Amino acid sequence: MIAFRIDDIGASSKWYNQHGKKTFRFRGIPYFYFPFANVWFFKRMWPFRKWARYNELTSDEWQAILQMLKHHRIVPIVAITATWVEQDGTLTPFPDKFPEEAAILKDAADKGDIFIANHGLTHCVIGKHLPSFWHSNREFHREFYPKFDQSYHTEHIQKSQKILEEFFARPVEILVPPGNIWSIKTYYAMQGTNLKKVICNQYMQDSNEKLTDIQFIHDGENMFYFHDMELKRYGLTWLNKQIVNFYG
Ligand SMILES: [Zn+2]
Repeated sequence: MIAFRIDDIGASSKWYNQHGKKTFRFRGIPYFYFPFANVWFFKRMWPFRKWARYNELTSDEWQAILQMLKHHRIVPIVAITATWVEQDGTLTPFPDKFPEEAAILKDAADKGDIFIANHGLTHCVIGKHLPSFWHSNREFHREFYPKFDQSYHTEHIQKSQKILEEFFARPVEILVPPGNIWSIKTYYAMQGTNLKKVICNQYMQDSNEKLTDIQFIHDGENMFYFHDMELKRYGLTWLNKQIVNFYG
């Protein structure tokens, strides 16, 4: 059975993570190179825009998505970033930033139509999250880097768990590390929380230590995952196509 996963819900990276596409390929062969794709507004402009500003899913969009998934008897994992990082670096909890969306997801979780996963507290490095004039800022839109100390990892795991568990009124058991980066310190931080699984396309960056009380699930197999960005860009027709592809 293939699991379905939607990432980046509530994450401010959809607003600040901006980078462009320099090389254009056709069937693997480069045919056009634009060195300024990361400069100023080019990175937000078609066709150079690779990852740049898009809006949070609306309530109507969510209703339609949930209805389509339910119709196909798919219970998706919805990976939520617990706070939105404001321009000045302050954190606004997901339920306060997007109350309508949060209410719809709470209702869906209560009905057993979705699973809630933790997709970090911030998804980014606070203070480095704003777009750069010249460069891609992609590297700053990951959260659990090994270079940060234990207290950082512990604080981010505990605060995010608290926000999500209090609002959704249920234990949150899955961590989806933003940008597929996590550390042994993230693992230590998970201990003593309700988190039981890490879903990621790679193991810890800084350790091969075996996990004892937490399960690592490689998302390469048996999982179809995407971001709210694809839903925003390509819409329900795209989603329907994917479902047919994966479930026949
Ligand atoms: Zn993400």
